[in-house]
Amino acid sequence: MSYQIIDGKAISGQIKEECRIKAEQYREQGIEITLAVVQVGSDPASSVYVRNKKRACEECGIKSLSFELPIETTEKELLTLIEKLNADTSVNGILVQLPLPEQIDEDKVIQAIDMKKDVDGFHPMSAGALCTGQKGFVSCTPAGIIELLKRSGIEIAGKECVVIGRSNIVGKPAALLLLRENGTVTVCHSRTKNLKEITRRADILVAAIGKPKFITADYVKEGAAVIDVGIHRNENGKLCGDVDFDSVAPKCSAITPVPGGVGPMTIAMLMSNCIASVDLSREIC
Ligand code: NAD
Repeated sequence: MSYQIIDGKAISGQIKEECRIKAEQYREQGIEITLAVVQVGSDPASSVYVRNKKRACEECGIKSLSFELPIETTEKELLTLIEKLNADTSVNGILVQLPLPEQIDEDKVIQAIDMKKDVDGFHPMSAGALCTGQKGFVSCTPAGIIELLKRSGIEIAGKECVVIGRSNIVGKPAALLLLRENGTVTVCHSRTKNLKEITRRADILVAAIGKPKFITADYVKEGAAVIDVGIHRNENGKLCGDVDFDSVAPKCSAITPVPGGVGPMTIAMLMSNCIASVDLSREIC
């Protein structure tokens, strides 16, 4: 079967360009969109993510404010900074790069961010809003999955959608978003029995498992669209996903590669959330 490669790099480029145009329009109205990026410590992987986020801000004409705190920062000090950023009317979005050092309770920090500035969409109020169909920020990776499908012309309404993984940042919100798009959604996880039987029903299969090349051809229905959220680096430094691309792709109608699939969408959707913050901050009650 010939398959479509869902090009996350190209689609994320389109989204960032749309954000750049909107940011410019806001600037003409005297609104400068500003994202505060907070990093505690200097974990190398986090530093790469933070650098990429700041670079995307530059590309899109979004101002980024950088707060680089030492690894020994206390929870109280971080919460004080968040309070300050919450109160600062010139800041539209607050992003705290995770993971945080062990002396800091991540949940407390996430909950301290004003829901109107929660551009990562991790606040329980944002998750609740997604669940109940209210206005709120949607976390970036799952939002990116939906954009990939829509912009690749893949219809979600009425389709059998299977999400493998139930994390708060990927699996659960991805399932809720597919449901919002009128998919018929099943969520699988580490305790699911007969996983293959369920995944083989999927017209749209989302793999967010965290296990390299776990999904092989026998998990996939002929003609399915497969979205691979996983990112893994092997001992030679080569990236792969949760899906065994070479065996699965020939069976699919469409599939995301790793790299160049879901990965670039996360930052693009962060930019999109920063733009949306101007309206959302007025609409969220
Ligand atoms: P997680 O570890 O929090 O969750 C993994 C989920 O997979 C769990 O809900 C678990 O129940 C399920 N699972 C584990 N083993 C399973 C099995 N044998 N059968 C069925 N289900 C199983 O991971 P996460 O944060 O949701 O991330 C998932 C993957 O996506 C990781 O590889 C991560 O690196 C990647 N990720 C990518 C991006 C991106 O921007 N592309 C963003 C976030 C996460």
